[in-house]
Amino acid sequence: MANPLTAATHPDRSKNDLILVAGAGGFIGGSLIKYFHNQGFTKIRGVDKKPLPMWYQTTPGVENLCLDLSDPANCTRAVEGAAEVYNLAADMGGMGFIEKFRVECLRSILINTHLIEASYHAGVDRYLFASSACVYNTDLQKDPNVRALKESDAYPAMSERGYGWEKLLSEMFCQEYAAERGMKTFSPRFHNVYGPNGTWDGGREKAPAALSRKVIAAADSGDLRINIWGDGSQTRSFMYIDDCTKGIDMIAHCDQLVATPINLGTSELISVNDLVSMIEEIAGVKLERSYDLSAPRGVAGRNSDNTFIKSVLNWEPNTPLRKGMEKTYAWIKEQYMDRKAGKPTPAGEY
Ligand code: NAD
Repeated sequence: MANPLTAATHPDRSKNDLILVAGAGGFIGGSLIKYFHNQGFTKIRGVDKKPLPMWYQTTPGVENLCLDLSDPANCTRAVEGAAEVYNLAADMGGMGFIEKFRVECLRSILINTHLIEASYHAGVDRYLFASSACVYNTDLQKDPNVRALKESDAYPAMSERGYGWEKLLSEMFCQEYAAERGMKTFSPRFHNVYGPNGTWDGGREKAPAALSRKVIAAADSGDLRINIWGDGSQTRSFMYIDDCTKGIDMIAHCDQLVATPINLGTSELISVNDLVSMIEEIAGVKLERSYDLSAPRGVAGRNSDNTFIKSVLNWEPNTPLRKGMEKTYAWIKEQYMDRKAGKPTPAGEY
């Protein structure tokens, strides 16, 4: 099988074509901008509604715009001249956020609705929407020893309330813009993404970052205890950010995947308890555990079935969790110490 095409190798793409990344002030958007910059793209525009000092990272030479993309006029401005659009903008967070703020999650529908319409009118060549494993039918995720979820498991639909339904409907927008209007749209379903430059405090962080922060704080304070949400038996798979950016690029340049949702995640399943043990090992501490059974815990188990992505791209996210967690832990520790020293740490200040 030939190597999958990417923006850098696709015959229709030039390094001077404009790439727009929405949600550029956040974790994946900021990382995707750096990825394309490293690939040699010279015209990249990042858009986010947050003021620039709150962006998690910025890349030199990139045009940064502060715009609220739930407004159609701002979407029109954002996509001006763009050849490719990556929609990574959403009001989102870990389980604590998406269980509590369903209205905010649902309202992200406005971003994709206006951005895809503006992109269509601007003649954008390729449009990617960041979907999520939260689209999958929750009835299939009641057991920690889950069967991995394959793409067809989204229907009959019973998505995660709020956040999951927004993702499912936005996927449908992408499918219909392709069917009726001939747009090349793509909808990877990310399974928990983690890594440096992600949210690590403030209420929107996900399990790998939250648990790393708790371990760091316990070791730093000498109070060697940790409180875990749920009973720790919940299982998930976690994808390292570098696999996510590479996967986004390959998916967005594979014509077989137009209007075709696809899993983008690892199939390395781990329980929260085992994840805590892994972080303790990295940190070189052992903590006394307590469990908050009333805290949000999400579905009992969720894993990615990668049969489809392997068959189309001959690739799947493959950074071992231990390796990715070592880098993530080191970065969060640095941020923790910076904050203690009074330095700004936007990804820990939501
Ligand atoms: P993030 O919260 O770090 O970044 C999202 C960014 O979107 C934020 O900077 C936010 O300010 C911006 N935003 C929100 N509303 C906006 C608006 N109206 N106009 C402009 N910008 C706006 O989240 P992330 O982890 O980088 O996630 C990126 C995308 O991937 C989201 O769509 C998310 O739902 C999806 N996703 C992420 C994960 C994950 O594990 N991180 C998993 C599945 C899906």
